[in-house]
Amino acid sequence: MIPGNEPSFRESVDLMFNHAVALMDLPPGLEEKIRVCNATYTVRFGVRLRGQIHTFTGYRSVHSEHMEPVKGGIRYAEAVNQDEVEALAALMTYKCALVEAPFGGSKGGLRIDPRQYDEHELEQITRRFAYELAKRDLIDPAQNVPAPDMGTGEREMAWIADQYARMNTTDINARACVTGKPLNAGGISGRVEATGRGVQYALREFFRDTRDVEKAGLTGKLDGKRVIVQGLGNVGYHAAKFLSEEDGARITGIIERDGALFNPHGLDVEAVHQWLVKHGGVSGFPDATHSAEGGAVLEEECDILIPAALEGVINLGNAARIKAPLIIEAANGPVTAGADEILRDKGTVIIPDMYANAGGVTVSYFEWVKNLSHIRFGRMQRRQEEARHQLVIDELERFSADTGIGWTLSPDFKQKYLRGADELELVRSGLDDTMRIAYQSMREVWHDRADVLDLRTAAYLVSIDKVAKSYRAKGL
Ligand code: NAD
Repeated sequence: MIPGNEPSFRESVDLMFNHAVALMDLPPGLEEKIRVCNATYTVRFGVRLRGQIHTFTGYRSVHSEHMEPVKGGIRYAEAVNQDEVEALAALMTYKCALVEAPFGGSKGGLRIDPRQYDEHELEQITRRFAYELAKRDLIDPAQNVPAPDMGTGEREMAWIADQYARMNTTDINARACVTGKPLNAGGISGRVEATGRGVQYALREFFRDTRDVEKAGLTGKLDGKRVIVQGLGNVGYHAAKFLSEEDGARITGIIERDGALFNPHGLDVEAVHQWLVKHGGVSGFPDATHSAEGGAVLEEECDILIPAALEGVINLGNAARIKAPLIIEAANGPVTAGADEILRDKGTVIIPDMYANAGGVTVSYFEWVKNLSHIRFGRMQRRQEEARHQLVIDELERFSADTGIGWTLSPDFKQKYLRGADELELVRSGLDDTMRIAYQSMREVWHDRADVLDLRTAAYLVSIDKVAKSYRAKGL
């Protein structure tokens, strides 16, 4: 995907890192220690399928262990390779630091097209891969905790958790060995939607400060903004759905593997998603024009562009033609280092991946904590909170009756106020808080430092500083 005259994904991440550390004052050697990937394990294993042995290649990369466990998703895609896994692991280090999730960075990948296998075959392959990783402590609640990424989801995470539990029968914290599990297998409410939800919260925070909105040459709030999304998978679907259904944004373009849909009046995200699930592509969807050349739709007029599929899609080949004034990198690494420079010069504002898609790891953090504490969030407080709110309502109503002022509380207020928060509400609240605070830390650097011209550099400065402080505290 990345044209040959551009650096690889990992080199791109390194270039962006180097650009940021040049503005910092790190002790000699520490900069290099933070930048390099600590270790990458490559495994080749065989699985007997359809009467013959198939060999698969997988990776698990550990970028930084300044905090443990290390954390990062497992990707299933044909293009998976060591360079990509290392780039993604590095991004995990910076991402976790930025959103204050207490993890080092890691990432895994299996070179496979999951669509070529049925469910039973995928289970066999996943269990074998998990076995190979767990055997080397590359899956472990205290050392390395994977999560879903492109091509994987709750189902694969449940298989991994079960495989680990079978191999570690006395580990009481076994469920914390992986996150993104289904609710009935130790998952947490709101994890599936988390990354897309985080993109929504990130944009809301961006639009709260008129200075930022003006920097992108935009005005107003999210309501009515024209949005183009690439990739209607886990991240893209949830981001597009929430932005259109809850914030009034208009999804004018959706780009998928088999081309793009365009409708200036706005697409019905739920309907497109159902069509995609049923037909395996977006072609043939009514109420929109379909263009076979999906990538070209990245260059259409819109207010917000959300690349939510894969890396390197905005590169030297098309950066100059991108019209969106605001890009939010829901995918990891969708903008190459070269394109980043072109866009910065053009004045395009980019909300960088390490922040924009951190909702996933944030809620994964909550899930890990839930697994270690062996109790659902809100279980102890919810009814007590409701009882205390009931006391306030009773007192207000008594006061109204006693004084004869005839004041009544609306049923809607009473219902909302009386309801104690369940796990989903707590997760969303924690995610919203995390996304706001992390954005504010980037914004501060972006506005306060004359030598920081973009949010990506600001994000790197904040996160590298945190990683450096961890290393210093450890005595390195
Ligand atoms: P996914 O597999 O659920 O969805 C990816 C979507 O992109 C699919 O609908 C696929 O058909 C589409 N796609 C693939 N190639 C395409 C192409 N060339 N053009 C247009 N569409 C294409 O994956 P996901 O989990 O949504 O991950 C997407 C991105 O978000 C990845 O970069 C991933 O690393 C990143 N991310 C995911 C999570 C998470 O929680 N799932 C968290 C952080 C970051």
